[in-house]
Amino acid sequence: MNVDPTARFSTLCIHAGQEPDEATGAIITPLYQTSTYVQEGLGRHKGHEYARTSNPTRSAVEANIAALEGGTTGFGWASGMAAINAVLTLLEPGDHVVVTDNTYGGTYRLFERVLRKGGLDFTYVDTSDVEATVAAFTDRTRMLFLETPTNPVLRLADIAALSAAAHARGDITVVVDNTFASPAVQQPILLGADIVLHSTTKYLNGHSDSVGGMVVVTHAAHAEWLKFYQNAAGAILSAFDSWLILRGTKTLAVRMEAHNRNGQAIAEYLAQHPKIDRVHYPGLPAHPQHALAQQQMRGYTGMVSFDVGTLERARGVLERVRLFALAESLGGVESLISHPASMTHASVPAERRAALGVTDSLIRVSVGIEDVDDLRADLEQALSVL
Ligand SMILES: *Cc1c(COP(=O)(O)O)cnc(C)c1O
Repeated sequence: MNVDPTARFSTLCIHAGQEPDEATGAIITPLYQTSTYVQEGLGRHKGHEYARTSNPTRSAVEANIAALEGGTTGFGWASGMAAINAVLTLLEPGDHVVVTDNTYGGTYRLFERVLRKGGLDFTYVDTSDVEATVAAFTDRTRMLFLETPTNPVLRLADIAALSAAAHARGDITVVVDNTFASPAVQQPILLGADIVLHSTTKYLNGHSDSVGGMVVVTHAAHAEWLKFYQNAAGAILSAFDSWLILRGTKTLAVRMEAHNRNGQAIAEYLAQHPKIDRVHYPGLPAHPQHALAQQQMRGYTGMVSFDVGTLERARGVLERVRLFALAESLGGVESLISHPASMTHASVPAERRAALGVTDSLIRVSVGIEDVDDLRADLEQALSVL
């Protein structure tokens, strides 16, 4: 790495893991779109043998995001779900995992429908409650899987307190899905977590043109297993996606500043709107964990959700917006709007949705980096139907 690892965040975004190309001097890490590498002789090669095992473009984005998260090693995967699945292979049949109760719907589906078949056991708790989380630990608990802020009601988990509590119990690995925050906003490893993972599809790539995942670890044993598993199971991040994500992380610091600014402005606008029942946003003083947000986050992202009272009213707003695009996903430069109950959380049973506050009248927005006056005006005209 040609950049001092103690460099500040925006410098790391642009330089970590990247050096001018040895062959040509190209300043941008080339897209090594190759499946294999010519060897000079038996057992003599330049460090790469086959592209499932290693690829220089993937190595660059892995080193880049590992530096942004303050970890030692990164591993790139074909999607966020493949990243989560990979982390869970650190466990053995019979092991127990304590999970944030309103975790991403796809995570819940993977754990309940796929990984339970392999003998893993999961307990879902409100990880905004440290005591309730610790009370869920059993003798078989080997992992605490946190998501903070959660999707879509933006509840927080105290990463430092929960990491300390888990480590006090001995052999519990703390994993944080940091997709919703990005390392520009929150760095779980620096707060005590062992592993951070991402759907790079969201803020890290940031341009809605790639699907990918990343795991960043801090322990040699975790790195050793994931390196083996990445090659053995093969759900690797492609060279092209690696290249796109590298382009994305170069502007992560400035993009997140803009998302944070616009997210805060839209949350404040919605909070004062007379027709809106509830706004969920950690940057609002009314958020029940605003103090924790100020402690462990730097800015509060572009994710905002709000309740308009009834499904009919939600439908009216969702169908009337023009600039906000009705679509799943989040974290891109363009603003999106979605209906969690029927879109991202459709695979979560209705009674669980209700318990998590994912009402049929809840709307989620991923505030992009357009001019905030245009975004506000679009919401204003859409909300006029209420
Ligand atoms: C999108 C998302 C995932 C899944 O990532 P994919 O890239 O879609 O596979 C996991 N966790 C969170 C919080 C997400 O938002």
